Amino acid sequence: MADNRVVEGRMVTPEALAELIEDDDVMDAEPITDADRECPDCGGNVLEVGYMPQITEFVTGRKCQDCGWKETDTDED
Ligand SMILES: [Zn+2]
Repeated sequence: MADNRVVEGRMVTPEALAELIEDDDVMDAEPITDADRECPDCGGNVLEVGYMPQITEFVTGRKCQDCGWKETDTDED
């Protein structure tokens, strides 16, 4: 599975990464990509994944590969 990436020392699928970010089950997730930024907490590589927490909602989530930092595009308001 080429889409799988190592996050905090373990291999995750796009769905598993989205569930780490959402802290809940997700319905679907797109392939993981590299976000063009560094983690604000540790300077590590940040991954990005688009996912649907529910059928009517699409969220772009970001998660550090090395620490617990994460955010979503719904966090900003
Ligand atoms: Zn980090």
